[in-house]
Amino acid sequence: MVAAGPLGTAPAASARQPGCSEHDRAGLAGEPVTEGPGSTRDGSPWEVLAVRYGTRNTTRAAVFLDYAIYGEPDAPLIMDYYFWVLRNDLEVILVDTGFSEQGGARRGRITVVPPLQALRELGIEPDDVRLVIVTHAHYDHIGNLCHFPNAQAVLSRREYTFWTGPGDKPIFMSVAETGEIEELRRRHELGTLRLVDDKHSLRPGVTLVDVGGHTPGQLVVLVETGRLRVVLASDALHYYEEAERDRPFAIASNVPEMYDAYAWLRELADDDRTVVVAGHDPDVMRRFPRQSGPVAGHAVRIAGERRLPPPPTATALRRPADTRTPL
Ligand SMILES: [Zn+2]
Repeated sequence: MVAAGPLGTAPAASARQPGCSEHDRAGLAGEPVTEGPGSTRDGSPWEVLAVRYGTRNTTRAAVFLDYAIYGEPDAPLIMDYYFWVLRNDLEVILVDTGFSEQGGARRGRITVVPPLQALRELGIEPDDVRLVIVTHAHYDHIGNLCHFPNAQAVLSRREYTFWTGPGDKPIFMSVAETGEIEELRRRHELGTLRLVDDKHSLRPGVTLVDVGGHTPGQLVVLVETGRLRVVLASDALHYYEEAERDRPFAIASNVPEMYDAYAWLRELADDDRTVVVAGHDPDVMRRFPRQSGPVAGHAVRIAGERRLPPPPTATALRRPADTRTPL
């Protein structure tokens, strides 16, 4: 049932979290952070941005689980790294915080723009962020969490239970950082980490769904923006091809759950007003319009504009008939 990922080559993670100063930690010593001002009433429709903060060169054989079974030649593949921003008149919500400088460098990842810098270019100061959705606990999604001392973090209970328990094995920790798992544990003790189950309504128009598969409690974020329903798949869908061809990603904690998540994402995409945003696919930068201003080179607007070229409707995400297999 459990298929361990092949990315076991990263050096052992550090127990410390370099880059997080005492200033960053200061807020964690205070009272538990309560929900932001938008928690009980509806703000304007959500703006949704994807920020491409990192990249690397990899191969198809490294990305798809048991790639040899498909009988296709290997080929180079680019993996991009994103975090996402939800913003309305009332508040800013971050979805993940990217890899830390050290966590990325340890694995040879290329930083396109440091996440904190990208946020400032978007007019967002880390101290002003009051809520961070953590889709899962891998190093490339929680690396800068310590830089948001005023924010409450939200994580699935299954994810927290795993990483603070059986997830401490080296094969799992190759894609996590000990200091960053400690950050989650510390926040839990201080009351600044909220754990959610199954399907959770976080804000008007923002729903979290625990789909598992990639990690034990991988979250997908659904956002109603008025005209569109945005599905931030995070690593429930690294590449669009995974759902389009039903090909699991190489790192999976539960392969049947991963297949189920692909089927659900395809179902969602059957609705013409729904757009699905993959977690690591370079195509995200082509499907959606680029942001203007200082972040023009590394951010796209998901909500508010139709993607260019057209969104992955039922046709784009439908599994080819000749690859159908029972789940
Ligand atoms: Zn990831």
